[in-house]
Amino acid sequence: MYITKTLKHKKTQQLDNLARASGRCYSKIVSFVRKTRKKKGFWLSKGAVQKYMRHKDSPLHSQSVQACADSYFDALNAYFEVRGTNPEAKPPKRTPRYFKVRWKSGAIRLKNGNLILSNCKGREPVILENVSEKPNYVEMHFKRGHYYFALVYKVNVLPKQETGITVSVDMGEIHPIVSFDGQHTTIYNGRFIRSIKRYREKFKAQITSAMASCKKRSRKWYKLQKTKRKTLEKLDAQLNDAEHKITSRFISDCQRVKSDTIVIGDLTHIRKNINYSKKSNQKLHQWAFSRIAQKITYKAALVGIKVVSVSEAYTSQTCPKCGHRKKPSNRNYRCQKCDFKYHRDGVGAINIHNKVSGVKNTPVSRDIGSLLGVRFNWHLSSLGLNPRKVAVSN
Ligand SMILES: [Zn+2]
Repeated sequence: MYITKTLKHKKTQQLDNLARASGRCYSKIVSFVRKTRKKKGFWLSKGAVQKYMRHKDSPLHSQSVQACADSYFDALNAYFEVRGTNPEAKPPKRTPRYFKVRWKSGAIRLKNGNLILSNCKGREPVILENVSEKPNYVEMHFKRGHYYFALVYKVNVLPKQETGITVSVDMGEIHPIVSFDGQHTTIYNGRFIRSIKRYREKFKAQITSAMASCKKRSRKWYKLQKTKRKTLEKLDAQLNDAEHKITSRFISDCQRVKSDTIVIGDLTHIRKNINYSKKSNQKLHQWAFSRIAQKITYKAALVGIKVVSVSEAYTSQTCPKCGHRKKPSNRNYRCQKCDFKYHRDGVGAINIHNKVSGVKNTPVSRDIGSLLGVRFNWHLSSLGLNPRKVAVSN
């Protein structure tokens, strides 16, 4: 399994030159292969092209040149695969001016926390600061005025274990994760994520109205547009980071209780069926349910935990003790029949757990521990085990 870490870098002359050199190199390969095909009637092999490119001058590292050939032959092989069935398929022929640059393992060094990406002999290397581990390869792309370096790491996936312990997850709009492991309910507090989202919506409304009040494409308008893009980018990064920290912490908690399965309540039907008040609907739409579910799924896979999903129907309404159904009206759940009292989101997690473990009704309520809360902080994930580090050391 591969994990990518992305670093943003401002546009510099050096990076421009490298992307341009990569574009030249890729275009050269495209035209060389196509010309040979036209004149001699056969497709060159990748080995032959790489041998030919070895004699060409390029500011790129020799392995980066070979990586251009890799990219081209990936595209060409994709064409070979489909040409029998798809008459519209064409071999790759685009000759881009700029192209991504890939540094393979042999061109990458890590020295004093700096990642050194070598180029051709006599050319300055590219240096990326504050990198702690050496990636398997690095790729540089250009997007919206900036260069992005994708640091790709190969991580070992832990073998699946069988312990029979299941942790259920209820993803609510107030708290991103509420989990139940058969005994304890844990709430991963969503206050911080909520505050970012609220600010994001407020900011969007303000800047949209400010942009509407000035002349379109005027200097002020462009300035506002730039502010809008920058601020939204920053808030998205903060949100993403918070979600990573919460999910990492959750996975390490699952490892601590030796769980082998995570059950996620499946909410795919929620937008169709639910029609709450307008305010509540807005909340549901901004809610990062699937983003958190995605992060849980891949992080669980890394540490050998299986993820399954069950329908979440009625899980927030059913009393886990006696099975009586009632819509909770506030944040606390109280059963009218047996007087079972619990936090509403906790009830959802317990019911999802019961659905999978086959327990119809949790017999005695005192078996369920009281709620534990996990509050967000900037070092949240480091409190537990970092799933990636665990995966690497094994
Ligand atoms: Zn009850």
